[in-house]
Amino acid sequence: MEKLVCTGCGKEYLPESSGWHCACGGFFDLSFQFDFTPRMTEGRSCSMWRYREALPLRDDKNMISFGEGFTPLVESRFSGASVLVKQEHLFPSGSYKDRGAALMISKAKELGIKKVVEDSSGNAGAAVAAYCAKGEIECGIYVPADTSKGKLIQIEMYGAEISKITGSREDTAAAVLEAAETIYYASHCYNPYFLHGTKTFAYETAEQLGWKAPDTLILPAGNGTLLLGAHIGFSELKKKGITDKIPKIIGVQAENCAPLYYGALKRLGRPAEIVSVKTAAEGIAIAKPLRGVQIMEAVSWSGGEFIAVNEKEIKSAFMECVRRGSFIEPTSAAVIAGVIKYIKNNKNKSETIVTAFTGHGLKAAEKIAQWG
Ligand SMILES: *Cc1c(COP(=O)(O)O)cnc(C)c1O
Ligand SMILES: [Zn+2]
Repeated sequence: MEKLVCTGCGKEYLPESSGWHCACGGFFDLSFQFDFTPRMTEGRSCSMWRYREALPLRDDKNMISFGEGFTPLVESRFSGASVLVKQEHLFPSGSYKDRGAALMISKAKELGIKKVVEDSSGNAGAAVAAYCAKGEIECGIYVPADTSKGKLIQIEMYGAEISKITGSREDTAAAVLEAAETIYYASHCYNPYFLHGTKTFAYETAEQLGWKAPDTLILPAGNGTLLLGAHIGFSELKKKGITDKIPKIIGVQAENCAPLYYGALKRLGRPAEIVSVKTAAEGIAIAKPLRGVQIMEAVSWSGGEFIAVNEKEIKSAFMECVRRGSFIEPTSAAVIAGVIKYIKNNKNKSETIVTAFTGHGLKAAEKIAQWG
């Protein structure tokens, strides 16, 4: 059985007896013991649930699933080098956030929860709303009042209740945290079950490579929900002797909002205080990432680094992808801009690089049309 462990003071809690934070104010990680071997996947469907033992859900009957996951790992070329791209834009709600939402909302069902809240006007909100719709769980999404209508349509159509909060992004955060004192907080940042869903990215990648870890992973670094999940997954695989190493993790940020990049550059050991400027990669424009220190530790332990990309590089990477038939969203293109930059500066010839198309362009068609 899994336990929630406070990242601040180390105090442990049972999943059914706790809210979203420790009495000391700290947020939680998950401690979870399990047995898993690749043989267990034999005969199972090609979804993220084929690693069933590695997922902290007790009873299959609580599983809320669209058969998601096991996204194709497709070879592509950038700057003359071969790169393997996980097609994470092909998830039911259009982004890899479904990995986290599938497990987190299934767990909520297992805990007997009837209503959840989350704060996101973007892909995390859409993913949570989709799984709540399927699992018949009431869902409230908090968004800043000035969020564009287009981004809310998917969330609204799934039947989630939207609370528009006037003021800054911080005011929205304060409002949801207040609601979360009495309603289950299905947060992609605070809730550690989300990361144990996104860790299936690592299991799938390893299996698709013949149960080997790639040399290098190039992933977005906003709140780090894919990056930290990949770190957890590859750490578990290494610990169980299934793979022989942990890949080097490169975290990509938009230069206009790059607290992790500058924090690492200045060797602060924590995110830098930055003034955020608007970026086309709005999905990774996180000025104060909750798990910032964790992300920096994961990247540095893996022997990796952060890369910052500018708006011109993001647009150019976007055009390169769409012109080759992959309609991804601008945030997703920032990661590919990072891939291109990494290859130009660092690539050794024999290195296996894995990255991801994180979100589908159809979600952002209106924005793309107006992209100067
Ligand atoms: C959420 C998201 C990201 C960034 O993920 P973080 O958890 O903020 O690091 C990147 N691309 C897309 C499409 C996303 O939805
Ligand atoms: Zn604590």
